Amino acid sequence: MKKAERVYNFSAGPSMLPLEVMEQAAEQLTNYGGCGMSVMEMSHRSSEFEEILHSAEKNLRDIMNIPDHYKVLFIQGGATLQFSMIPMNLLRNSKKADYIVTGAWAKKAAEEAKKFGDIKIVASSEESVFSYIPEVKKEEFREDADYVHITMNNTIYGTKFPYIPDTGEIPLVADFSSCILSETVDVSKFALIYAGAQKNIGPAGVVIVIIREDLIGHASADIPVYLDYKIHADNESMYNTPPTFGIYMAGEVFKNIVRLGGVPALEKINREKAKKLYDYIDQSALYSCPVVPKDRSLMNVVFVTGNTDLDKKFTKEAKAAGLHNLGGHRSIGGMRASIYNAMPMEGVDTLIEFMKKFEAENK
Ligand SMILES: *Cc1c(COP(=O)(O)O)cnc(C)c1O
Repeated sequence: MKKAERVYNFSAGPSMLPLEVMEQAAEQLTNYGGCGMSVMEMSHRSSEFEEILHSAEKNLRDIMNIPDHYKVLFIQGGATLQFSMIPMNLLRNSKKADYIVTGAWAKKAAEEAKKFGDIKIVASSEESVFSYIPEVKKEEFREDADYVHITMNNTIYGTKFPYIPDTGEIPLVADFSSCILSETVDVSKFALIYAGAQKNIGPAGVVIVIIREDLIGHASADIPVYLDYKIHADNESMYNTPPTFGIYMAGEVFKNIVRLGGVPALEKINREKAKKLYDYIDQSALYSCPVVPKDRSLMNVVFVTGNTDLDKKFTKEAKAAGLHNLGGHRSIGGMRASIYNAMPMEGVDTLIEFMKKFEAENK
């Protein structure tokens, strides 16, 4: 498909990737860098692939300012497997962990962890359909908890943590699946950050785990070998065959971020894109955003008309106008515009123009 025929894809994930990265990958698809084969066909032990993996890690370390005492791991199984790997590896002393439940993914993470230890939900916004982020103070966490878990950006409900909880000495673990690389973050405030690739990084199939070294090596010996962070760390993500093509694509996206001026440059554009959209929604007589302003996501903008039939009509007509995947998550309905890094400003402008037209036609 030619560039001109592409649509604006507002999918929550898998989602848009930078066109320039895909075009370059297409050029290299059958013959990578003149080596006569595709990255998909290449041994993961080849010098070409080792270079791909190392440069992906190096570029990610640079753009996120990841301190040296953190490992970067490329794993499979999506963010969902991390819901199990985290408790299996990090419940190492008291076997207690505290979770802040701010959405469906956070809830799933907590439910999974309950299989492995004593899990406490220290705060939840479920009673208000996850329309805000609870403020949790240090004293509310159990002193002897092995870790605290949060979901930094709630993909389905369109919220994000406006603050990093102060957990004192307790390691803070965060699911960054739908906000990694969208704004600058102080990695040193976290003990473990994980993110599935398919929202803001690359194709599905890779999850990135950034883990402080002292948290590695505490899993019990009887867990499946693949689920032990130590195996991945000791073997530099090459214990078994890693998701090679996904890592290559992620690496190309990281290089592209370097070219675009790094995460601060993306953050600036992301803030502009989100502000335009929220400002328009807030002044509109038809649309409203259910999320309290201070906790609104930069990546997933949720809105409703208040009439489910009209919401459906909106999504359908938007698609016909080249604005795809604007339906809200199947659990809550309404609309959701996911505006990850790869969504250009013109995509947001085109969406707002469409929203104005639809509003005028449906008074
Ligand atoms: C998409 C998503 C997940 C699930 O990711 P999978 O790769 O499908 O397991 C988990 N957490 C958040 C915040 C997400 O957005």
